[in-house]
Amino acid sequence: MPAATPEKPLDFIRQIVADDLKNGKHAQPVTRFPPEPNGFLHIGHAKSICLNFGIGVENHSPCHMRFDDTNPSKEETEYVESIKNDVNWLGFTWGDKLFYASDYFDALYDYAVRLIKMDKAYVDQLSAEEIRAYRGTLTEPGRESPWRNRSVEENLRLFEEMRDGKHTEGSHVLRLKIDMASPNINMRDPVIYRILFAHHHRTGDKWCIYPMYDYTHCLSDSIEGITHSLCTLEFEDHRPLYDWVLDTLQTPCHPRQIEFARLNLTYTVMSKRKLLQLVQEGLVDGWDDPRMLTISGLRRRGYTPSAIRSFCQVIGIGKKESWIDMSLLEDSLRDDLNPTAPRLMCVLNPVKLVIDNYPAGQSEMLTAHNHPQNPEMGGRQVPFGRELYIERDDFMAEPSKKFHRLAPGREVRLRYAYIIKCTSFISDENGEISEIHCQYDPATKSGLPGGERKVKGTIHWVAAETAFDCQVYLYDRLFAAPHPDADKDVDFKSHLNPNSRLLIEHAKGEPALKDVEPGQPVQFERNGYFSPDPVLSAPGQPVFNRAVTLRDSWTKG
Ligand code: ATP
Ligand code: MG
Repeated sequence: MPAATPEKPLDFIRQIVADDLKNGKHAQPVTRFPPEPNGFLHIGHAKSICLNFGIGVENHSPCHMRFDDTNPSKEETEYVESIKNDVNWLGFTWGDKLFYASDYFDALYDYAVRLIKMDKAYVDQLSAEEIRAYRGTLTEPGRESPWRNRSVEENLRLFEEMRDGKHTEGSHVLRLKIDMASPNINMRDPVIYRILFAHHHRTGDKWCIYPMYDYTHCLSDSIEGITHSLCTLEFEDHRPLYDWVLDTLQTPCHPRQIEFARLNLTYTVMSKRKLLQLVQEGLVDGWDDPRMLTISGLRRRGYTPSAIRSFCQVIGIGKKESWIDMSLLEDSLRDDLNPTAPRLMCVLNPVKLVIDNYPAGQSEMLTAHNHPQNPEMGGRQVPFGRELYIERDDFMAEPSKKFHRLAPGREVRLRYAYIIKCTSFISDENGEISEIHCQYDPATKSGLPGGERKVKGTIHWVAAETAFDCQVYLYDRLFAAPHPDADKDVDFKSHLNPNSRLLIEHAKGEPALKDVEPGQPVQFERNGYFSPDPVLSAPGQPVFNRAVTLRDSWTKG
C-alpha cells in the first residue's frame, strides 16, 4: 500500500485538507473518485486516483468509489468491472464505499421537485438549437425562454409528465432558473434533466428522464458527505453552479470543490473518445493493447502499480496546465524495476557463433548472478557449449573505430563465461553473416583466479542446444508526435507511429526464461525490461513484451 512521503512538502490540496483538519472544520476528509463508466481508465485517471485514494490512505479516511452513470447510452457494465479492477490493481480499495450516481436518481428527482416548488426550476419547451441560440455568447448576455415564467403548478405537472413518459425526447427539459445575463455561461439557466428513452445498466427502464452531470455531481457529493471534491481545472467555471445548487437547496453537507491541473502526457492522447476510436477502428488490439496508455494496457505491457504511483508522486498536483514528458513515465518504471528485476540473458536478433576449440559434445553449467548489485538475489546455472547465439549487432565484419565488441581478430568477454577471439565468419549469398567462428581461452573463465583478464567489451549469449525459442514484442510509443491531437485540422491518427510494435518470432533465451510468469518483470541483460504478456503467454511458453528500454532512446538521441 502506498505511503505518504514526509520528505516532500504537501501539495496545495493536501495542504487545504491538513488545514481543515487542524482547525477542526472536518474530523476527517472524505474524498471520492467519480469515473464515468464509458471507457477504460488511463494514466490521467491514475493521477486523480492517486490523489483521491492517496488522501484516504494518508489520513486513514474513506475514499468513495462512485460511478458517475448519468448517461445511459454510452455506459456499459464491462467498463464498470474494468475500472474496479484497475483501481484495485493500482493498490487502492474503497471497502463498502461503492456508489453509483444512479443510486440517487430518486433523491435527485425529489430535489428537482423542491427546486420547482421554490420557483428555481422550470420546464422549457425550446428545442436544443433554440436553447443554444438563446444562451448568448461570452460577450453577449442570453435571452430568457418564453417558458421561463410558467407557474409552479404547471412546472410540477409537466415535470411529472416528463417522468411518466408522456413527452418525446427533446421536447421538454428541466432548467434551473438562475440568470440568463450571468457572465458565466454555466449559470444561464442550465438544463438539469432531459428526456431519454434509454435502458440504463442499473436502473433498467425505470426512468426516461436523466439528470445532467453538473446537477448530479454536486448532489451526489453532498449526499455522500464528501468534504473535498477534487476535479480538473475545466470545472473551475462550473464551481459557481456546484455551489448554487447546494446553497439553494440548503443541503446539510456542502463539499468544497477544488480544481487541479489534469495530466497531459506527450506522445499519447488522453481523451476516452479518441482512445475508443483507436479500439473501434482496430488500430490497436483493444483497450488493453500494451501500447495504450490505459491502466490495463500499461499492466499488460509490464508496468507495475508502484511505478505508476511513483510517477504520480513525481509529477505532483498543481494549478497550472502543463505537459509531462513521456520519458518521465518510462523513467518511473526503470527506477522501479532496476533494484528488483532479475537479470536474464536473451538474444533478440540471434546469429550463430561456434567456438572451434571447445570440444564437440561438451557442455558445462556456469554461474550467473541474478542481480549484479544485489547479491541477495542469488545466482543461477546457465548452460554453456560449443555453439551459441549472440546478438547480430555485437559483431561487425568491418568494425568502426568506436566498436569494442566482436570483430575478426578481436576479443570480447562472454558474460559469466570466457573471453573469445573471432577467427573467421561465414556470409550467405545475400552477404548476411550466418556464422561466426571463435577460439576461447579456458583460463579466462569468470570467477576463476586469473579469469578476470580485462577486454573492452562484454556481450550476452545463449547456448544454442538448450536455447528457449520465444516470441518477443518490442513496443515503442504509439504516436510518433509529442502532441498528436494538438492541431484540430489534422487527424490525430495520422501521427500513429508505424513502428510502435515489432514482433520477434524467434528470440533465443536462456532456459530459465521458460519459467517467468505474467506479472514478473525481468531484465534481459543489455536489452531492457520485459514481462510475459498475460493474454498471449501459456504455462512454460511465455511471450514477452518489452515494457521499457534500459535507457531513453527518444530524448537523448
Ligand atoms: P473524457 O472526458 O475523456 O470521457 P473524463 O476525464 O471526463 O474523460 P471521467 O471518467 O469523468 O473521465 O474521469 C474521472 C475522474 O478522473 C474525474 O474526476 C476526472 O477529473 C479525472 N481525470 C480524467 N482525466 C484526467 C487527467 N488527464 N488528469 C487528471 N485527472 C483526470
Ligand atoms: Mg467526465
